[in-house]
Amino acid sequence: MQTLVADHPLVAHKLTTLRDLRTPTPEFRRLADELVTLLAYEATRHLEVVPVDIETPVTAAVGMRLSDPAPMIVPVLRAGIGMLDGMVRLLPGSAVGFVGLARDETTLIASTYADRLPIDLAGREVFVLDPMLATGGTLETVIRMAIDRGAAGVTAVCLLAAPEGLARIEEAFGDEEGGIPIRVVTAAIDERLNERGYIVPGLGDAGDRLFGEV
Ligand code: URA
Repeated sequence: MQTLVADHPLVAHKLTTLRDLRTPTPEFRRLADELVTLLAYEATRHLEVVPVDIETPVTAAVGMRLSDPAPMIVPVLRAGIGMLDGMVRLLPGSAVGFVGLARDETTLIASTYADRLPIDLAGREVFVLDPMLATGGTLETVIRMAIDRGAAGVTAVCLLAAPEGLARIEEAFGDEEGGIPIRVVTAAIDERLNERGYIVPGLGDAGDRLFGEV
């Protein structure tokens, strides 16, 4: 498994405003969107390209385009939806599949309540969008689903990650799973989880801050 922390002044600046409890939902949503696009730039670095012949206004040239099949973007419901536009902006040709997991607030165990992911992901690069990599239970489940359906590689894009969650993903998929690269791209690795499974210092409940409390 590879972990990449996007070390960039814009990422640090936007993340600090996201963390601030005084940042209201509309600004939080906009900043999360912008931050995802910055993370997406790093998260797509490994994508393969193929040469294509083109005509510029001046001459014939050889350019590059992303190779087929198109990537699959998988926002994890509910909070991952707040990351979808920011990712699709850089990968407009992607397909989008949805997975819903809810975690029990007492046991912190996540269970799947929605699966709108194709059965066949053969050869596809999968990008899982989940703002908070906390215990890692949700991400482990979604990565496993993608691997079982034939994904060529799985990259998780997370606004924040806890060391506990990264350790769990490392343990589950440490050596490339059957040759499949597993990556986590995040804006920061925070200190720890608290007793309620929240990332510290974190930014609170990402779903609530994106969409309001329900
Ligand atoms: N989910 C959140 O929304 N926030 C956390 O800190 C941990 C999990």
